[in-house]
Amino acid sequence: MTQDFDFNEHLSRADTHEVLNQPGALTPYNPWRCDQALQHWVRTFDGGWAEAQLDAYGADCGGDLVDAGIAANEVPPTFHSHDRFGHRIDEVRFHPAYHRLMRTAVEAGVPSLPWTDPRPGAHVARAGLEYLHMHADAGSACPLTMTFAAVPAIASTPSVADVWLPRVTSRVYDGANKPWFEKAGVTIGMAMTEKQGGSDVRANTTRAYPLAVRGPGESYRLIGHKWFCSAPMCDAFLVLAQTEAGLSCFLLPRWREDGRKNAFFIQRLKDKLGNRSNASSEIEFRGAEAWLLGEEGRGVRTIIEMVAMTRFDCMVGSAALMRAATAEALHHTSGRSTFGKPLHDQPLMQNVLADLAIESEAALAFSLRIGKALDSTGNETEQQLARMATAIGKYWICKRAPHLSYEAMECIGGVGYVEENPLPRIYKEAPVNAIWEGSGNIQCLDVLRVLNKEPLALEALLNEIGQARGHSNTFDQAIQALPALFKDTNTLEYRARNVVDQVAMAFQASQLIQHGDSRVADAFVASRLERLGSVNYGGLPTSVDCRSIIDRAMPRV
Ligand SMILES: Cc1cc2nc3c(=O)[nH]c(=O)nc-3n(C[C@H](O)[C@H](O)[C@H](O)COP(=O)(O)OP(=O)(O)OC[C@H]3O[C@@H](n4cnc5c(N)ncnc54)[C@H](O)[C@@H]3O)c2cc1C
Repeated sequence: MTQDFDFNEHLSRADTHEVLNQPGALTPYNPWRCDQALQHWVRTFDGGWAEAQLDAYGADCGGDLVDAGIAANEVPPTFHSHDRFGHRIDEVRFHPAYHRLMRTAVEAGVPSLPWTDPRPGAHVARAGLEYLHMHADAGSACPLTMTFAAVPAIASTPSVADVWLPRVTSRVYDGANKPWFEKAGVTIGMAMTEKQGGSDVRANTTRAYPLAVRGPGESYRLIGHKWFCSAPMCDAFLVLAQTEAGLSCFLLPRWREDGRKNAFFIQRLKDKLGNRSNASSEIEFRGAEAWLLGEEGRGVRTIIEMVAMTRFDCMVGSAALMRAATAEALHHTSGRSTFGKPLHDQPLMQNVLADLAIESEAALAFSLRIGKALDSTGNETEQQLARMATAIGKYWICKRAPHLSYEAMECIGGVGYVEENPLPRIYKEAPVNAIWEGSGNIQCLDVLRVLNKEPLALEALLNEIGQARGHSNTFDQAIQALPALFKDTNTLEYRARNVVDQVAMAFQASQLIQHGDSRVADAFVASRLERLGSVNYGGLPTSVDCRSIIDRAMPRV
């Protein structure tokens, strides 16, 4: 220590060091404007007309709503069974930030756009909004998705639809705990899962009894329970219950038409790994009134359209989590040096980062291609493609997200493991999309179900994949091998995951080849189709142009 060093002065300022080589937060940044891939795929699949809306919502999701997302997750919802005078109220209270997230999303059309503006590209544009919302908060995306997805099921019964759909599709959010008929805008939840059977809803024991007359749109009383009911402050729920004719679908409001609380009782909230801003509850119906949607005994058929849409959103949501994690990893590594060189320029880190970027873009391309199929309402081939590829994508993309978010966390190093960083929230959120709305095996079994019921769906899928034939020997060999995977029907169920894995990657490759950036497409084919069996990220072959892939994916603030 030199004589010039003033020890006392430094100690009094606690000035031990200067903070160096710690990149700042990736905020504020617009996840639309800073995402070349997202812009590209939205335009490619006809959603380009919504760019101004997406840009505006991106500014919200990467700006003010970031803090709202943090607050809504730090202070999770609480359940209040009674008021202070002893009346049963069954109320879940949220942090004001949760309502802010919901209001901004509803006003932007996240749950309503394709229903109110059904032009080509509308499902793609809405998926873009949902994707952006996931950057701010995933928990509130759950009721937004359910509200969006409930529309086709409610539309099946005109007497109910006339009253409810204008409110479901309005751009008004009203989070007050008051009767639905006093609100200009409502939200919808879904309650199918029971203790004795979630995947197998035929095991449901909740029963429904007609109040007077049976039939679509008529009132019934429900007695039973649901083991999972997310967003229990929604204004109404699509519920499955048994009638004399079998499993049936109902719309069950939280308030009765006479203005009294419906017999819908919240037992408790689940203490979840992630998805903390969203409340997920256990509920009981003790004679709750509800309207029948569709025919008695046709409940699965009625609710399946809602389930198809929620599965689509699981893909979109997981793709968004992957993008958010990748963007954080790219941002951090580009602002940090190790061993005398920027981290994102170190060859082995480049291999990992480019691999994450490829996976993330492939998930997005797959999801928005399904959005395009959903937009093609009059085209039967596209509808068949959507039915089969939604199950494939829901299985594959949702399974890829947890591993990717963990790798992104590792790119960031120790601070990536600390709760102040966005990665822990993304990591803890990632598994749920694979579990709810039909877990992994159920999606694979659904692929086989579609195969049996609609053999033309496989043809539609293989034709779509085959559009990219001629790209390379590797790709051509991969698609040639696909039909044989379905041949041995005796072992198909046992092999279903393996079959779906291969079809999923071929489908992603096909989209990237047909419509994407050639460097990303080539890298995907070389790493996923040529080297099946590589399980860790960072195993790209030397032919891959990592630098340009990283450059394309870099979120520039
Ligand atoms: C946070 C959260 C929120 C939720 N919110 C809601 C909600 O709002 N509404 C709602 O209705 N539900 C909700 N769920 C429930 C969810 O949809 C179910 O947990 C899910 O469908 C699985 O059902 P289960 O838990 O009964 O598992 P099970 O049906 O017992 O399945 C367990 C495992 O077995 C596999 N499996 C099942 N059958 C087969 C088979 N034949 N062959 C091979 N494998 C099989 C499944 O894929 C799964 O991996 C929520 C769940 C979570 C975690």
